[in-house]
Amino acid sequence: MEKKSIISKITEAGLKKTKYRVNIIDLLEKSNTLLSAQDIHTQLIKNKTKVNLSTVYRTLDKLTENGIINKVDIEQEKQSLYEYNRDEHHHFLICKNCNKIETIYNCPLHDYEQEIMKDSGFYITGHKIEFYGYCKECQKSLNISSL
Ligand SMILES: [Zn+2]
Ligand SMILES: [Zn+2]
Repeated sequence: MEKKSIISKITEAGLKKTKYRVNIIDLLEKSNTLLSAQDIHTQLIKNKTKVNLSTVYRTLDKLTENGIINKVDIEQEKQSLYEYNRDEHHHFLICKNCNKIETIYNCPLHDYEQEIMKDSGFYITGHKIEFYGYCKECQKSLNISSL
């Protein structure tokens, strides 16, 4: 995403543009995996942006509050992870061996939600599911057949 679009994202959310906000959104948008605050801090330092970890946390909280990014809490991860909010429904595939997290965008559960609503009268606003298992590489190295 262009810097210009990132800046308009920030101002549309009613936030002031700061270099930390711009750089963190940029990192998350380009990343193909979820990042922790620590990962983001390390990358910013590598990109020569001087920043301390508490500022990274504060910036992440603010961006999460405003819906620009998502905070993801995964059971086996001790720390929260972050992703750019693409406004697309998705789920995570989590490898129990190497901890790699993949994202999948197709979800068949919306029809099921309709069914549950009809049967139970409960109004469903969303769901959260994570899938646990072994990634392709780990299946090979651990000699697990995916059947
Ligand atoms: Zn793996
Ligand atoms: Zn789903």
